[in-house]
Amino acid sequence: MDLVALPAFADNYIWLFHDGAQAVVVDPGDAAPVLDALDRLHLRLAAILVTHHHADHVGGIPALRPRLQGPVYGPAREDIEGPLQRLHDGEQIEVLGLHFTVIDVPGHTAGHIAYAQVAAPQAPDGPLLFCGDTLFSAGCGRIFEGTAAQMHASLGRLSALSGQTRVCSAHEYTLANLAFAAAVEPANDAVHAHAQHCRALREQGQPTLPSTLALELRINPFLRCSEPDVIAAARAQGTAGRTPVDVFAALREWKNRFR
Ligand code: ZN
Ligand code: FE
Repeated sequence: MDLVALPAFADNYIWLFHDGAQAVVVDPGDAAPVLDALDRLHLRLAAILVTHHHADHVGGIPALRPRLQGPVYGPAREDIEGPLQRLHDGEQIEVLGLHFTVIDVPGHTAGHIAYAQVAAPQAPDGPLLFCGDTLFSAGCGRIFEGTAAQMHASLGRLSALSGQTRVCSAHEYTLANLAFAAAVEPANDAVHAHAQHCRALREQGQPTLPSTLALELRINPFLRCSEPDVIAAARAQGTAGRTPVDVFAALREWKNRFR
């Protein structure tokens, strides 16, 4: 299975995976890059996966429907124009022979879901995770419809997946996120090393994604809310609490105003 990140808008990625004949796309906010790729690679469109209702993730669906030969899968609890196969937490789907489990990850939006591939025993690459605007490399989505406690729990569910999991986020925010991560943990060498690696990738016009969960656990401050240095940094921003949720909430607010 080939995995391709199709750039869209200023900093979105529409993920496409294909077996050489059929393709699945995730969060097609714009139809044009998808139609281009389908034509260029001579692929039929077998299914669309959607993580949440924002326009930059669903806007291309109407224009793709005439080409679509299968379902649009999406979150049960969000308002997305149908026909839509509505998915609940724990449900499994099969697309192009790959099995994915649906994980509820509220926080960015109330009904946001992620698609975690059920690891194929023989697969050389790690299982895929399509996590939309919940988990980014070195960062996480803004909390628009949920609470900090919900978002923290959602990230906890994703970070419990296998370390080899390939994290396919919906935006190229990695360098800005790493600048924030370095402010939170100036002594974290993994953050500096990864920033150098990602700067080189971006200079070559390459995506910094997918990341892996094992890497995220080392560089993503939002997954490190129990680390003493992260707790200390959150407290220096004036948060009184010490629980991981308090620390997470303080980091998220700090990031909102970080430039
Ligand atoms: Zn969004
Ligand atoms: Fe988005």
